[in-house]
Amino acid sequence: MKTIIEPFKIKSVEPIRFTTKEERENILTEAGYNPFLIRADDVLIDLLTDSGTSAMSAKQWSGIMEGDESYAGSKSFYRFESTVKKVTGHKYIIPTHQGRAAEKILFSIVGGEGKFIPNNTHFDTTRANVEFSGATAVDLLNEIGKHPEKRAPFKGNMDVEALEKFIEKVGAENVPLAMITITNNSGGGQPVSMQNIRETKAVCKKYGIPLFIDACRFAENAYFIKTREDGYKDKSILEIAQETFSYADGATMSAKKDALVNIGGFLSLNSDELAMKCRNLLIVTEGFPTYGGLAGRDLEAVAQGLEEILDIHYLQYRIRSIEYLGEKLVENGVPIIEPPGGHAIYIDAKRFAPQIPPHQYPGQSIVCELYLEAGIRAVEIGSVMFGKYDEKTGELIPPPMELVRLAIPRRVYTQSHIDFVLEAILEVFKNRGKLKGLEITYEAPMLRHFTAKFRTINN
Ligand SMILES: *Cc1c(COP(=O)(O)O)cnc(C)c1O
Repeated sequence: MKTIIEPFKIKSVEPIRFTTKEERENILTEAGYNPFLIRADDVLIDLLTDSGTSAMSAKQWSGIMEGDESYAGSKSFYRFESTVKKVTGHKYIIPTHQGRAAEKILFSIVGGEGKFIPNNTHFDTTRANVEFSGATAVDLLNEIGKHPEKRAPFKGNMDVEALEKFIEKVGAENVPLAMITITNNSGGGQPVSMQNIRETKAVCKKYGIPLFIDACRFAENAYFIKTREDGYKDKSILEIAQETFSYADGATMSAKKDALVNIGGFLSLNSDELAMKCRNLLIVTEGFPTYGGLAGRDLEAVAQGLEEILDIHYLQYRIRSIEYLGEKLVENGVPIIEPPGGHAIYIDAKRFAPQIPPHQYPGQSIVCELYLEAGIRAVEIGSVMFGKYDEKTGELIPPPMELVRLAIPRRVYTQSHIDFVLEAILEVFKNRGKLKGLEITYEAPMLRHFTAKFRTINN
């Protein structure tokens, strides 16, 4: 097999800043051992998120220049609309400034007290918007998806049987729509099979419930279907995406992921009545329906990005790059969620640093050490992010998993950056016995991971 190379050459570069270990020690102490509080300029390789961090192409940048900034009926809107229609086949395309704005509009209309929204796994903004409307968000992930160490091709799948039971239990009239998130971000970026989407649709149809797709990483999901599911080997990514969306009555999308832009999103719909209600709300909260919270130039960049993401060479490089990092980590005994998903590697901090109990934040300790070792910024997804306190005892109730996520921005880093990340993780792993626990010195009452401060525990 030949080496899979970056399917682009570099036209414009942005230097990254090197720091000494001594400088990083000061920076980290200053930031209270919370990488969210480090300036991006003090980070060498930034793997905090793949959202809005993509490198745009020369064609996207020229689209930025060509953007038509007319308030109503801009040329850029029509290009955006026709591209999104080509991919989704949906009748109404509503631009929003990012994914959560599409969710907010949708759930303000269909949600509310007494309603239930099932999903394979709700992304946190989706859950927040469902709950903010007064409705209940329910995750119905397939059993295999709950086991980080077990390998399976489609660990993001919906538990279709559980979905049907759930609808029977709460009553179809209380389920205004069901959602399926592709790839399943909160479940480790794991893909969902076409068969699972089809079966989910069949259950929805039986009960007259519309199916919506949370489509942030639809192209990465299509690539997994092409390479892992029977019958799709010879289909193009566009054909697979079109089939995927054909089972849905609508979709929400953050263009900051698979549309290769820094800001943007959309809501697509087939229902005339729902589209009218969504547009009316859009005008109040986002803007006129032909720009929806974006500039004309942003719409151009999204339209162009949606064309580029369908390129098989791009997807092959993208998925392989992450798979490569995963393979090398596993070869060297580093515990990760297997197999790696589409956009990130998740280190299993419980197995990586078993000497640190959850209430001393093993994931955060690894995140800090990666920064100290090599200037790499990752993010803890464990007790810092999702831990809750017992109301009576005040003790920490940890979530089921303690993870460190290394999300890979699209088209930003090259193979040697990935090799460098690998070396840094292996170095931290080699010295894992020296990792120390942390305690919190400051925390906000909500979403504490963004602003919390820590100190190391010396024992
Ligand atoms: C990022 C994301 C969202 C929210 O999109 P924003 O553009 O960040 O508002 C929703 N669902 C999934 C699966 C995501 O990854």
